[in-house]
Amino acid sequence: MIVWSRKSHRIALGQSERHYCQTCGQQRRFQLTLTYMEWCLYWIFGIVTSRDYQMLCEVCRKGWKLEIHKVEPFLSRPAIPFMQRFGLFTLIGGLVILIAALNMT
Ligand SMILES: [Zn+2]
Repeated sequence: MIVWSRKSHRIALGQSERHYCQTCGQQRRFQLTLTYMEWCLYWIFGIVTSRDYQMLCEVCRKGWKLEIHKVEPFLSRPAIPFMQRFGLFTLIGGLVILIAALNMT
């Protein structure tokens, strides 16, 4: 039986700025946030199907979207865990190596 799932994740990336929030009607701290969708096989072998960077108000969680190519070059390390980004490729690579090893014997 093949088990798969789709799950949305939201990560606060730790960088914040003060801006005027139109929803709250006053100055608030806005935090750089990554929201991404993961498709996952057997709860371990994931792949990211979409990602959005946003500046979100810390109080009301409203904000605006940022362009990926303007954010990612400035991140010190990837925010998404390895197995959620490349888990499916790791599984496929492992199976290819296993099949190749079995054919050599
Ligand atoms: Zn707000």
